[in-house]
Amino acid sequence: MNETQVLLTNARVIDCTGAPPRSGQAVLLRGKRIAAVGAEAAVRRDLPPETPVIDLAGKTLLPGFIDCHVHIMWNPDPTAPPQRMSSVPVRGLGYWNSRGLLYALTACRLTLEAGFTTIQDMMAPNDQIFALRDALAAGEFSGPRLLASGMCITHTGGHGTEMLNGQDVAYIADGPDEVFKAVRQQLNAGADLIKIMGGTRPALSAPYRGRPGYTVEEMQPAIEEAHRAGVRVAAHAHSDTQGIKNCIQAGVDSVEHGFPLDEEGATWMIERGTFLVPTLSVNPAALEAIARGIWTYKGSEAHVQRMADMAPKTIELAHRLGVQIAFGTDAAMPLVMHGGNAREFELLVDYGLTPMEALLTATRNAAQNLHLDDQLGTIEAGKIADLVVVDGDPLADIRLLQNLDRIKLVFKDGQAVVSRL
Ligand SMILES: [Zn+2]
Repeated sequence: MNETQVLLTNARVIDCTGAPPRSGQAVLLRGKRIAAVGAEAAVRRDLPPETPVIDLAGKTLLPGFIDCHVHIMWNPDPTAPPQRMSSVPVRGLGYWNSRGLLYALTACRLTLEAGFTTIQDMMAPNDQIFALRDALAAGEFSGPRLLASGMCITHTGGHGTEMLNGQDVAYIADGPDEVFKAVRQQLNAGADLIKIMGGTRPALSAPYRGRPGYTVEEMQPAIEEAHRAGVRVAAHAHSDTQGIKNCIQAGVDSVEHGFPLDEEGATWMIERGTFLVPTLSVNPAALEAIARGIWTYKGSEAHVQRMADMAPKTIELAHRLGVQIAFGTDAAMPLVMHGGNAREFELLVDYGLTPMEALLTATRNAAQNLHLDDQLGTIEAGKIADLVVVDGDPLADIRLLQNLDRIKLVFKDGQAVVSRL
């Protein structure tokens, strides 16, 4: 056994299993995994004396954070040079998709620097995002572990089709047969999950404004096909309670955004184990972008304000009834910054979760949502050593996770990939 070993000592461990924090812990990393957690004397037994030690006195050790909803190829700064389609100069889709891919190298690094060691991308051109995922997995450059849906599946006039590179990010499918085929196309392309625009949003073309998107009958057979292939289905759904409930009833694994949710919908989610990924960061950031005069679209002010009003009520309901909540930011929406992901923790606490519950959304719950909970999400022997060392106590002040100076070390696969010690 020649794997590299590192011993972390004097750590205050929040293991994110749901157990309370434990002080004075030692954690042994061996290769890419956590080999042992416990009292130092026990963990040290049989270790060669030359084993490197990192003293974490005064610091808190947490599992690496997981953001279940980002768009890593898009720049969230509305004032940045355009990386989406623009009228001048005339460029092909390949140019814009390439710009997005190159931008993603920076966005990946920013995300990792903030302690997020796993992310899930929720809509992007297939070739570019899967190339990015595979290059990251091969260790060709520094960034978080990436899971990706690639193209979303949407109906005629549905969300995704308004994007100027829509033909590369949105597969238009109407009726059960076309949706079924679209799912097979994405499975064949190597998608880690299926993203379906299950519930539309009100800003789209008039016939679909404020209506549920897909019917249950359109979605259900395709979702069953994804599940037969062992692949999860995440549904974009908000602004219309029936649209959200159609997605739950059709059997999706997670509802993205999800407000306004009603009590019946929440009950179905609990019965079926459907996750809610509320992406609370979007609304306050969009309101800020509008207030600063750097972003808007027709009707967006009223729409964003309505969404901002719905979100706390949905979180209150979901939290009170016990819907499983997993962490997602929708990083790439206006001013939802890559590397600013930790703002979501503060919003979850503002809307009623305890700081510990908020931490669990980005660790244990998120790993369960991604079906990676046998590998990630908690600090336990045998798990992959994705870890964050925080200066101070995030349970006393969850906002300190937004201060990069407090993110002292980030380990991914047992390697220190960020160090500010
Ligand atoms: Zn999104």
